[in-house]
Amino acid sequence: MPTSVKKIVVLDRDGVINADSDAYIKSPDEWIPLPGALEAIARLTQAGYRIAVATNQSGIGRGLFDMNTLNAMHLKMHKMVAAVGGRIDAVFFCPHTAEDQCECRKPKPGMLKMIAERFEIDPEDTPCVGDSLRDLQAAAALGFVPHLVLTGKGKKTLAAGGLPEGTIVHDDLRAFALDFLSEELE
Ligand SMILES: [Mg+2]
Ligand SMILES: [Zn+2]
Repeated sequence: MPTSVKKIVVLDRDGVINADSDAYIKSPDEWIPLPGALEAIARLTQAGYRIAVATNQSGIGRGLFDMNTLNAMHLKMHKMVAAVGGRIDAVFFCPHTAEDQCECRKPKPGMLKMIAERFEIDPEDTPCVGDSLRDLQAAAALGFVPHLVLTGKGKKTLAAGGLPEGTIVHDDLRAFALDFLSEELE
């Protein structure tokens, strides 16, 4: 049995839940879910997991969009997830750019630390799903279990190598949810 009774899955946003863009996701219209991603979240919700999102949003620090717009994107995300029976319990975002040298921008583990404290979880029992090396590095820094999905920047991330030890690779969020939940039953 896991030492923690709290069941949480931590997800990156862009390239994991929704399609990523090198030009940033700057509006609700540009926020388009990846195939099967919302249903994957619903499966996890229905299996008793809480979902926390941790996302770098330096577009705010760069002035590409503002907080109202980010809130509107997340409202769309919450509504679309709810429409298929899922729930995202918390969204943590870093609005800073690299120059700000904050503690929350991944690969820094600040957001994951806040999630661990807020939900009182044991990182060792908690998967952290991302498509970029910095997602996996932030996870590994606190002892979360790093999971790489091959959507978004995932294929490039895998090809570049240097993944944290113990990283588990899945085709996409749907495959993660199926693998993760079937393992839980073993
Ligand atoms: Mg990403
Ligand atoms: Zn930050």
